[in-house]
Amino acid sequence: MKDVAIIGAGPAGLSAGIYAARAKLSTVIVEKMYPGGQAAITDRIENYPGFNEGIGGSELTDNMKAQAEKFGAELLNGDVIGIKKENEKFIIQLTGETLEAKTVILAMGAESRKLGVKGEKEYTGRGVSYCATCDGAFYTDKPIMMVGGGDTAIEEALYLTRFAESVKVVHRRDQLRATKILQERAFKNEKIKFIWNSVVDEIKGQDMVEEVIVKNVKTGEKTSVLVNGVFVAIGLVPNTSFVKDLVKLNEQGYIITDENMGTGVPGLYAAGDVRQKSLRQVVTAVADGAIAAVEAGKYLESL
Ligand code: NAP
Repeated sequence: MKDVAIIGAGPAGLSAGIYAARAKLSTVIVEKMYPGGQAAITDRIENYPGFNEGIGGSELTDNMKAQAEKFGAELLNGDVIGIKKENEKFIIQLTGETLEAKTVILAMGAESRKLGVKGEKEYTGRGVSYCATCDGAFYTDKPIMMVGGGDTAIEEALYLTRFAESVKVVHRRDQLRATKILQERAFKNEKIKFIWNSVVDEIKGQDMVEEVIVKNVKTGEKTSVLVNGVFVAIGLVPNTSFVKDLVKLNEQGYIITDENMGTGVPGLYAAGDVRQKSLRQVVTAVADGAIAAVEAGKYLESL
């Protein structure tokens, strides 16, 4: 039985792993995809303190992973489908195996919200993408679309201008949510054009995406826009379905914690994007992870 099981190897989970393993607690970090989470697929991170030239997202998270492993944290590839607490221990159900731990830190993060329009599912991987750094290079000299007005959408639209002939940003309002410095860069970039007050109505094509029907939310008017790729960055949905009966979730599905990352269930903590909080950044995720691991250590001492 492990002292600490961490679910998710994004910045929150890896930071929790560094703190727990360095405190000599036996630690396992379970990850269903690749370590690093959303940060690992971010081209460059400019606002993580200590890197005044910025740092590649995957480089930063690879370092976090190596640091956690250096202190003895074990990384385990697996998909958690359920967690229950029985007599002071947690039983973590993975597809095909079971883990036991005295404490658990939930750091599953969040995944891309889907548009939910006709053609989206059909063309995913054939022109519809949720990751600019993964797929941007496929669109060299092609016209593409970015949907969304937040930090991710604008950061990724800027990144995509390295490859694409043009990037049309479709946003449902007439003002961006993204931070001002990103807005200024996007407005200055000649390859980026905005389609305001609009949403995607349908994605069309033959084998690959060829056309997007965009609807103006004020007038109801529908317009055809010819693009070869549609990148979607309209926010995140937390990966909390398998803990919904164990912890308290808010209306959007994020885990409600106290300031020490406690979920209300003794020995069970949540850290990073998966919890209800006001600022979702790498810097706040790693802070959450550190706090959760230290609190888990205190709880273990009290047992
Ligand atoms: P976000 O901040 O929630 O922005 C989502 C955007 O998508 C908003 O502009 C929203 O419009 C739009 N949207 C939401 N649902 C929609 C729908 N159904 N149809 C059309 N548009 C829709 O999400 P995010 O950009 O992925 O960022 C997530 C978190 O990570 C944020 O806290 C962000 O600050 C952080 N982040 C930070 C950085 C950075 O600091 N460099 C980079 C990336 C992400 P409205 O504006 O009208 O709500």
